[in-house]
Amino acid sequence: MTEQYSCIGCGVRIQTDHPEEIGFAPHSALEKEEVICQRCFRLKHYNEVQDVSLTDDDFLKILNGIGNKDALIVKIVDIFDFNGSWLPGLHRFVGKNKVLLVGNKVDLLPKSVKRNKLIGWMKHESKELGLKPEDVFLVSAARGQQIAEVAAAIDEYRRGKDVYVVGCTNVGKSTFINRILKEVTGEGDVITTSHFPGTTLDMIEIPLSDGKSLIDTPGIINHHQMAHFVDKRDLKVITPKKEIKPRVYQLNEGQSLFFGGLARFDFMSGGKKSFVCHFSNEINIHRTKTEKADSLYKNHAGELLTPPRREQMDTFPELVRHEFTIKEAKTDIVFSGLGWMTVNEAGVKVAAYVPKGVGVQVRKSLI
Ligand code: GDP
Repeated sequence: MTEQYSCIGCGVRIQTDHPEEIGFAPHSALEKEEVICQRCFRLKHYNEVQDVSLTDDDFLKILNGIGNKDALIVKIVDIFDFNGSWLPGLHRFVGKNKVLLVGNKVDLLPKSVKRNKLIGWMKHESKELGLKPEDVFLVSAARGQQIAEVAAAIDEYRRGKDVYVVGCTNVGKSTFINRILKEVTGEGDVITTSHFPGTTLDMIEIPLSDGKSLIDTPGIINHHQMAHFVDKRDLKVITPKKEIKPRVYQLNEGQSLFFGGLARFDFMSGGKKSFVCHFSNEINIHRTKTEKADSLYKNHAGELLTPPRREQMDTFPELVRHEFTIKEAKTDIVFSGLGWMTVNEAGVKVAAYVPKGVGVQVRKSLI
């Protein structure tokens, strides 16, 4: 029988197979007298929180637990992928607890986006999705924008309670928490060994000055995110790193666009119109006639139309067609996790294609 190890930091059972999941430690760590999981190792030595992911069931358990606590909840979403990174169902678990909603990665949006309008949009959207946050913030955790404001709001709203930070994987939760910690405690050592967390198995408790904690919950995997269908290397292509440059296409009826080989757009009817594409600057947009689009995809997905990569094509989900009639001017068609197209004028019929399992939504324009 193989020996079982537990992390001396958080107590979690050690595993050596899945670096992204809870309890991971490299094989070499098992030879040490005291075994520590990678997450605790990073926290201890670099004062850095690293995200790990959980299955839906585990996450539901955590959410259930939070509902029973008297705490402030800080929910993080990726503003570039608002619906895709939304944690559905959270509102059912929060109980009476207050929620602050933080939209991260605001640095990716074009400068033309009006902050207040976007915050208004987030409030409206949250309400539609069943959540009524006390306040809504737009931040860039990576750049440190608006972090001081959120830190102040957390302090105000928590009223001496614990703070739970929740979000799905890749929203920037770790980056955010690390920023907040620096903000709260200054640049110095945030978490020292004496502060070393040692309570729950799957959450990291970071002590606050009044004896309460800021609690980092594991990120949930949202299976509908485009990120789960692409190669790790291609994740870099589809995830924008800097401000998105809108790309405008004048299309005639019967023309189509491919976004790499990950998504497709058909302009079915509506004369000649312009469409503004908001995607990572690194994603190739290929224009073609709709009548040729099927054969183009069949013959060139994985090479001309990439990502995905050729070697992935056998397992890559088929593209599924969704038709929309756009009745209002200034509407976005969102390819979850990839980006969106803004339709400026009403009265067009379009079709959007995404890999099976990925969402497409139509929303009032963000910009
Ligand atoms: P977590 O899985 O939610 O903990 O996310 P991470 O903190 O590991 O960040 C996920 C990815 O988003 C990384 O590639 C980060 O560099 C990136 N990221 C985090 N915050 C920001 C931000 O404010 N702006 C941008 N552009 N990228 C960010």
